[in-house]
Amino acid sequence: MTEKLYDADSFLSSFDAKVLSCEKTEKGFEITLDKTAFFPESGGQYGDSGKIGTAVIVQTYYRNDEIVHLSSEPLEVNSVVHCELNFEERFIKMQNHTAEHIVSSLIHKKYGYDNVGFHLSKEFTTCDFNGMLTKEQLSEIEQLANRIVYMNTPVLCYYPDKALLEKLTYRSKGELEGEVRIVEIKDVDMCACCAPHVKYTGQIGIIKIVSFIKYKSGIRITMKSGYTAYEDYKKRSEQDEQLSVLLSAPQSDLLPALKEKLDSLDQIKAEESRIRYSMSEIIASNTAKTDRSICRYVQYYGIDDLRKLCNLLLEKTEQLCAVISDSSEGYLFVCGSNNFNMRNLSKKISSDLNGKCGGSDTMISGKLNADKEYIIKYFEEGQFND
Ligand SMILES: [Zn+2]
Repeated sequence: MTEKLYDADSFLSSFDAKVLSCEKTEKGFEITLDKTAFFPESGGQYGDSGKIGTAVIVQTYYRNDEIVHLSSEPLEVNSVVHCELNFEERFIKMQNHTAEHIVSSLIHKKYGYDNVGFHLSKEFTTCDFNGMLTKEQLSEIEQLANRIVYMNTPVLCYYPDKALLEKLTYRSKGELEGEVRIVEIKDVDMCACCAPHVKYTGQIGIIKIVSFIKYKSGIRITMKSGYTAYEDYKKRSEQDEQLSVLLSAPQSDLLPALKEKLDSLDQIKAEESRIRYSMSEIIASNTAKTDRSICRYVQYYGIDDLRKLCNLLLEKTEQLCAVISDSSEGYLFVCGSNNFNMRNLSKKISSDLNGKCGGSDTMISGKLNADKEYIIKYFEEGQFND
C-alpha cells in the first residue's frame, strides 16, 4: 500500500520514492510508488499532475485501492526516483476545497442544509445543497466565510481513534468506510474528508460566490476562491477598464452610464421605426390599386417594419403582397394575402426562391436567397401560382 505523504503534509511538493510497478494500459503507463504526495482524483477533486523521474504525470487516480500515476513514459521498477508535484495547481485546489468546507459548514449551521454534491474544476467550484437560499442569504454566508479567512484559523487534518471519533460531531458527504480522516477548521467546522487542504484559512485569500441556480430540490452555487478568484477579478477589472473607455465614464459609474446609452439606443430605434413607418405610408399611398400581386424592395427594414408595410399594401390588392429588404445573406421577406392561404404557399415560395419561411395562413416571413429582380418578377407575375 502506498504511503500517503499528502496526509501528513499538504505542502510537500517534492520527494523521493521507489517505483513499485509500471503497467502499460490503454491510457498509458500506470505507475505505483511506495509513497506519494500526489493526491488521487476522489471526492469531487481531480487528481494531481507533475513529474516522477523523467516521466510527466498527467493524472493521479485510484485503481481499485491503489494510487496510480498516469504517464506516457515507462519507469524502471525498483528504481528510486525524484518526484515533483505541479504544486501551483495543487495549491489552488486546496484553496478552493477548503473554501468549500467553510461555506458548506456555515450553510449547514445556519440553515441545516447538507452539501450533497461538490465539483472542483480549474476555473470554479460548484456545491449543491439540499435546500433553497436567497441571494441575500448567500451574500451573508459569503461575508461570514471571508471573515473566517481573515481570522487565519488553523486547518487540522487527522485520523482520530475510534473512541475519539465516536465523541466527535462532524459533517460527512456519504457512508464512510475504513479509517475516518477529519478535517477540522478550529471553532468553525469538522468534516470527514480525504483531500489535502491549506494549513490556515488565511491562505485561501478570498471566497466569492459568483452565481447560484435552482438545482434538484435545492441550489447549486458556483464559487471562486484564492488564486481562481484573483484571476477572475483581474479579468473583470480589465473588462471594466475597456468599458470605461467605451462608455467615457469612470469605472465606478459604469452601470448608470451603460443604462443611459441603452436608453438612448432604444429611443433611436423607436424613432427609426417611426420614420420607416412614415416611409411605408408614402410607399402605400404611391401604390395604385391593382388586380395583380405587388412586390416592393425597401432598404434597412427589419421583419417588423416589413410586416407593417405589407399590411398597408394589402389594401391595394386582392392578390398577394410581398416586401423584401437586404439582409446579411439574401433578403428578408414578408408576404401576405387576404385571399391566398400563405401557409400552403410557403413551401413552393421557399423552394422556388431558395429560401426559408413560415408563418400563419395570412402572412409568412423569412429569408430568400435569389436575385432581387428575379424575386420581384416572381411575385408580380404570379409565378407562385404556377
Ligand atoms: Zn473536503
